Amino acid sequence: MIGSIVAAFAFSWMAPEMAKHTKVGGEIFLRCLMMVVVPLVMTSVMSGILGLGDVRKLGKPGGAAVLFYVTTTVLAVLTGVLMFNLIQPGQGVIPDLGALDHGSHAEQMAVVEETSQQKKGMADIFENLLLMLFTENLLQSMVEIELLPLIVFSIIFAGLLTTLGKRIKVVSDLVLASNDALLNFVMLLMKFAPVGIFCLVASNFGEAFAEGTFVSTIKNLASYMVVVLGGLFFHFGVTLPLFLWFKTRRNPYRFMAHMSDALLTAFSTASSSATLPVTMECAEKKAHISRKSIDFVLPLGATINMDGTALYEAAAALFIANLYAVSPEAQAIGFELTMTTQVVIAVTATMAAIGAAGIPEAGLVTMAIVLGAVGLPVEYMAIILPVDWFLDRFRTMINAFGDSVGAAIVDEVFTVGKQKA
Ligand code: ASP
Repeated sequence: MIGSIVAAFAFSWMAPEMAKHTKVGGEIFLRCLMMVVVPLVMTSVMSGILGLGDVRKLGKPGGAAVLFYVTTTVLAVLTGVLMFNLIQPGQGVIPDLGALDHGSHAEQMAVVEETSQQKKGMADIFENLLLMLFTENLLQSMVEIELLPLIVFSIIFAGLLTTLGKRIKVVSDLVLASNDALLNFVMLLMKFAPVGIFCLVASNFGEAFAEGTFVSTIKNLASYMVVVLGGLFFHFGVTLPLFLWFKTRRNPYRFMAHMSDALLTAFSTASSSATLPVTMECAEKKAHISRKSIDFVLPLGATINMDGTALYEAAAALFIANLYAVSPEAQAIGFELTMTTQVVIAVTATMAAIGAAGIPEAGLVTMAIVLGAVGLPVEYMAIILPVDWFLDRFRTMINAFGDSVGAAIVDEVFTVGKQKA
C-alpha cells in the first residue's frame, strides 16, 4: 500500500490533470467503506456485549477505554501547545486574508461561520457533547452516520437482550452472523485497497498540483505546518508507543507495521469512520487483539478519540491568535495571547476534538468553537484552509493509531492479563 501512495504522489506530480480523473475510483472505494460503517459499528458493539453475556461486565474495560482516550487526547493537546510555544509560528506576521475569495473555501467558511454564530462558553460546549450521545431518531442518526448515539443504543439494546434468556437466541445469532459477514466484506474490500488508495491520493494531490499554488502556500505556512506535523509525529512516534510498551510490552514499531493498512487507509481517506472497518480487520488479523476488545473499544475510539485532531485544533487556534494579536482590531481591544487564553484553547480543543465527526475536515468545523471560546475571529481560518486537507490526512492517521493502541491496552489489561492470572 505504501507503493500505491508513492506511485500516486509521483503520478499526480508529473501529470496533475490526468491524476484528477482518478477521482471516481477513489470515490467508489470510499463509498464502499462508508457503506459498511453503520451496520458494522452496530453489529460489532452488540456482538461485544452479547459476548460478555452481561452488560455490567462492560463497566471496567469501557471505563478504562474512555480514560485512556481522554488522557492521550489531553497529552496530544499539550504536545501541540508546547510545540507552538517552542516555534511561535505567525508571531508578528501580518496575515493576508485574500484566501477568503477562493470558491470552495468560501463555501467551507460559510459552514464554519454558521456553526460559530453563537459564541459558546465551556458549559455550553460540554452540554452539547452530552447531548451528542443521544438521538431522537435512530434512523436519522444512521443516515447521517452519527456513530455516538448508535453506539449508545447498541449497548442498551444488546444489554437488554442479555437479560432475556434463551428467547433471544435468534436475534443474537442474527447479530453475530451479520457481524461476521460484514467483516468478510471488509476483507474483500481490502483486496481492492491498493487501487482505491492510489486513486484517492492521486486525485487529491493532482487537484492541488493542478492549481499550481500548493507549493507556494506550503512555504508561506511552513512554520505552522512544522508545529502541527512535528507535534503529530511526536505523539505518533513517542507518546503512544510509550503507552503501548508500558502497558502491554508489545514492540510499538512492530505494532505500527501490523496496523499499517489502517494507517494508510486513514491517510488516503482522511476519515476515521471510513477507516474503522480496516482498523478492526488489522487489529484482529495482524495485531491479534481479541474480538472482545475490538468490538467495543474501536468503534468508540473512532468516534470520540481524536488525538491528532485535538493537537491540530490547539496548534491552529494558537497560530491564529498570534496572527490576530498584531491586527489593529486586536490592538484596539487589547487582545493578548495570555497563559489563560492558552489554557482555554487547550480545554476547548480537547472537547472540540471529542465532538468532531470522523469525516474529512470535521476538525476545521469544530475549531470554530475553539476560536469562539476565546473571542478569535473565524475569518482567520481562511489562512489555514489551503493546507487543511493535507494536514487532515496526517491527523486522521494519528486518530486511527490512537484507537488501536487503546484497543491493545484494554485487551492486555482485561483479556490477556486475566487469562495469565
Ligand atoms: N478527518 C478527521 C477524522 O476523520 C477529523 C478531522 O480532524 O477533521 O478523524
